[in-house]
Amino acid sequence: MVLNPADNIQDYLVFGEFGEVNPSISDSSTFTFMSAEKMSALFEQEIEGCFLYSRHLNPSNDYLAKALAHLEGTEYAQVTASGMAAISCAILEICSAGDEIISSRTIYGGSYALMKNFLPKFNINTHFVNITKIDEIKSKITSNTKIIYCETISNPLMEIADIRELRKIADDHNLILIVDNTFSPLIINPTELGAHLVIHSLTKFINGASDTVAGCICGPKPFISSLKDVSSGAAMLLGPVMDSVRSASVLKNLHTLHIRMKQHSKNGQYVAENLEKLGLKVFYPGLQSHPQHELFNSMYNSEFGYGGMITFDVKTEEKANQLMMMMQQELIGYFAVSLGFYKTLFSSPGTSTSSEIPKEEQEEMGMTAGLVRLSVGLDNNIGRSFDKMKKCLIACNIL
Ligand code: PLP
Repeated sequence: MVLNPADNIQDYLVFGEFGEVNPSISDSSTFTFMSAEKMSALFEQEIEGCFLYSRHLNPSNDYLAKALAHLEGTEYAQVTASGMAAISCAILEICSAGDEIISSRTIYGGSYALMKNFLPKFNINTHFVNITKIDEIKSKITSNTKIIYCETISNPLMEIADIRELRKIADDHNLILIVDNTFSPLIINPTELGAHLVIHSLTKFINGASDTVAGCICGPKPFISSLKDVSSGAAMLLGPVMDSVRSASVLKNLHTLHIRMKQHSKNGQYVAENLEKLGLKVFYPGLQSHPQHELFNSMYNSEFGYGGMITFDVKTEEKANQLMMMMQQELIGYFAVSLGFYKTLFSSPGTSTSSEIPKEEQEEMGMTAGLVRLSVGLDNNIGRSFDKMKKCLIACNIL
């Protein structure tokens, strides 16, 4: 977690109201006022320490938001009912009809579909670029561009965004840099490197239990306040409020994130290195062969490693499917979308999480049909799990 010297420790430490070690879960959709003046003042502007209505804010969501802001080193955060809600609210808060976005083309399929298919309905259009090509990004900037959007480690090809360089471009053209840091909490701190806003699908590593869908936007206080504005805020008016019980449970899981990320990375590095030794094409930022390994080294918090996400190529869709079925039968993990779970999860990006991207575009990006994406779990003995995986690779004639 990033400690800011100016931080007031009371802002993020959480104490139960009656001495509980975890804060009480707020169980109210609405809150009482002791004067009409204060209620109308809250409709005009935010008043610290005061709650109006749960879609606006409630104590449970406030505790989680402050902890996430602390995690990402931002002034404040907005928690939302999903990662997609965080992405759509952040974009719609910034863009009006006629505005343009420059986005990495290798992003989560849902984010891609939002920008490619949904936002054009509101005349908000996106140029998709290879985020590793700075000149290509610059060439797409027009007077209507408002946002540069990327993922720290892209989904599923593990391309790395040079956040420092992107911030320079953003500054030169008065743009807002939004970074989805879902794959790399604690490993990379996008705000320190220059991101204006950091997005998470809390559904993934941060919650880590695959029992809830949730998201957040971490950023400067004025932006977070604008999201909640009762008459114009995207979060307030589109209304993707997180349930208090869920936010309390995400907050508890957040406290073990540092231990989990180290184990995901330790296991990820082991699996990536050993898959590569078997002669497979492996995409993992912790490998010397990754084209942006050095860039990653210049940005990451080394104690947390290179993360738990690996993509590798087994050449054909049939082989990928056969392998995943067998790995599930052998209890190596589950054939399921999503990531950041304590068990290993695997899916084939082209036919699942990136299926929103048309086939020709997938090919152009380098997404081949035989890709398998692994979210490596918290296995205590990863060597034993890998031996089982190797047997499956042999049985499927991949080796
Ligand atoms: N961002 C990334 C990188 C993702 O992988 C996902 C989902 O897989 C999302 C955002 C969307 O999050 P959610 O499913 O919580 O809406």
